[in-house]
Amino acid sequence: MKGIRVDNIMAAMNAGQRGAFKFWARGDNPPDHDRAPDGLNFVCPGCGDLGSLEFQGRRHGLGGGWTWNGDREAPTCTPSILHDSRTCGWHGYLTAGEFRSC
Ligand SMILES: [Zn+2]
Repeated sequence: MKGIRVDNIMAAMNAGQRGAFKFWARGDNPPDHDRAPDGLNFVCPGCGDLGSLEFQGRRHGLGGGWTWNGDREAPTCTPSILHDSRTCGWHGYLTAGEFRSC
């Protein structure tokens, strides 16, 4: 499923646009795309609910568990993504802007 970068992730989720994604940054309201993002929100390819990743090194030198290749249009994040294991369980990869189930 091709990922689509959107400006409003909540609108994308409400519209059922699975695979939509948006970078987020702390203090980022309204969004400022010049800042280095702290993570990525996405509309889960499996269930259509909101998911979130936090990138490494963004929280006082700790941050979340994902790497990001710096590409804002076709991001690659590692390791794999597991959406809420209780309610959804979608598991896959975001590679070059493409969500792939595994
Ligand atoms: Zn899901």
